[in-house]
This record gives sequence, C-alpha cells and structure tokens, in this order.
Amino acid sequence: MILMKDIHKTYPNGVTALNGVNVDIKQGEFVYIVGPSGAGKSTFIKLMYREVKPTAGTIIVNEIDMSTIKEKKVPFLRREIGVIFQDFKLLPKLSVYENIAFALEVIEESPRNIRKRVMDVLELVGLKNKARFIPDELSGGEQQRVSIARAIVNHPKIVIADEPTGNLDPDTSWGIMKTFEEINARGTTIIMATHGKEIVNTIKKRVIAVEDGLIVRDEHRGEYGYEI
Ligand code: ADP
Ligand code: ADP
Repeated sequence: MILMKDIHKTYPNGVTALNGVNVDIKQGEFVYIVGPSGAGKSTFIKLMYREVKPTAGTIIVNEIDMSTIKEKKVPFLRREIGVIFQDFKLLPKLSVYENIAFALEVIEESPRNIRKRVMDVLELVGLKNKARFIPDELSGGEQQRVSIARAIVNHPKIVIADEPTGNLDPDTSWGIMKTFEEINARGTTIIMATHGKEIVNTIKKRVIAVEDGLIVRDEHRGEYGYEI
C-alpha cells in the first residue's frame, strides 16, 4: 500500500529532514508516527500524498510510483487519499454541507448522489443536524469532525492525519479517535502523526518513531515512548 525505499529529503534551504527511510505499510493498518518536534514526521507523511517530493529514493502509494507519476495524475492520486490537519483547514464562508460537497465536485456525481453521500458521512461523524452551520459556529471538535467527513467522503483507501487532536481538549480527542477507529474498521489505512501520549499508549496500534530524519523504532502495538 505504502512502500518507501531509502528515502532522503533535503529542503532547498539545505535542511535534511529525512536521511534514509524505509517503510512498508499494508492496506488496513493503523499507524501512529511519533517523535520530537523537527524529527521529520510531517515531511514523512507529506511525501505520501506528494505535498513533498523526495530528493532520493522510491515511494510507492497504491501501486503508483510517486517518483515517476506525471503532474497531471496527482489529482487522481489525491482522491485515493484523505488528509486531515491539526488546524482543520475548512473554508470559513461555506457551510458544513458545502465544505464536504466541495470535495465531491471534481467528480461527476449527480446532485442527488452528492446529497446522499454528504449526509451519510455527516451521520458517521455525528453532525447531521449541523449541516447548515458555518465552521465558526462549531466547537473545535466539531470542526475536526467536518474535516474528517470531508477527507473520507470520496471513500479513500488511505487517510493521513497530521496531529488531528493537537488543538483539542482530551475528552474531545478521545471522541475523534473513536471516529478514526470506525473508519479503520471499514478497511481504510490510517497514518497519524501525533503527540498524544495517552492515546498512543491506550489505543494500541503500530508505532513508527522518527528522530533526526530516521526511523528509530517500528513496533506492532507499540508505546509512545517520550515524556511529552
Ligand atoms: P516534525 O513534523 O517532526 O516536526 P518536519 O518534517 O516538519 O518535522 O521538519 C523536519 C525538519 O525539516 C525541521 O528541521 C524543519 O525545520 C525542516 N523543514 C520542514 N519543512 C521545511 C521546508 N518547507 N523548508 C525548509 N525546511 C523545512
Ligand atoms: P466546546 O465545548 O468544544 O468548547 P463550544 O462551547 O464552542 O464547544 O460549543 C458548544 C456548542 O454550541 C457546539 O455544539 C456549537 O455548535 C454550538 N455553538 C457554538 N458557537 C455557536 C454559534 N456562534 N452559533 C451557533 N452555535 C454555536
């Protein structure tokens, strides 16, 4: 599903963020990416949806070789991958419904199908009654649910989340994690960078630890392993 071979990434300013990373993630896995700030976690996950290109090495996602993929094909790849951010990145002037429907507009779907898919996904994240709200009218946890709904409305095979609970209080974070577990239970691969020590140590999954641009630990049902 996701295969990296000897991946290096040096940014144009000369900073080396990754220095020889190898990984193999199978369909349906749930993987936490942990490590100190500046370790290379974001770079590692941005490579998976081609937000960042490697300086050297091979990455295969969904059987597509990301090093040779044509620029034109990148939007198709993105449809197979849902991305969720710490700061939600919702469009502030659009309603919850429109924020999610927007993700479907690139696809040729009938209005009736779009309506059904948006309402189904809102039901899954428990926000059916807030379809007409704008993001500012929602709590942080609710905004994150909208961004999860947006990420999964195309039924992607992979969901990538960069510190999705980083801005949320503990209670809200556990609720968000439940939603990720439900999405994973449907067969979707989940890759999540996180500083949530209690979450990682309680909801046990594969843990990949990144330090100084290298994978220093890769464990099935692993521990968070850092103090903060
Ligand atoms: P983490 O997510 O673990 O905090 P990052 O992947 O964001 O780590 O960063 C790894 C290193 O790469 C850091 O030294 C960071 O400053 C640097 N870096 C990240 N993005 C860029 C960029 N766009 N340009 C230059 N340096 C970057
Ligand atoms: P939290 O407990 O996460 O801090 P809030 O207190 O911000 O949540 O919001 C609690 C509820 O009130 C949420 O369901 C939210 O949708 C609703 N709400 C908050 N602000 C507004 C607003 N300006 N207009 C309408 N509903 C709002």
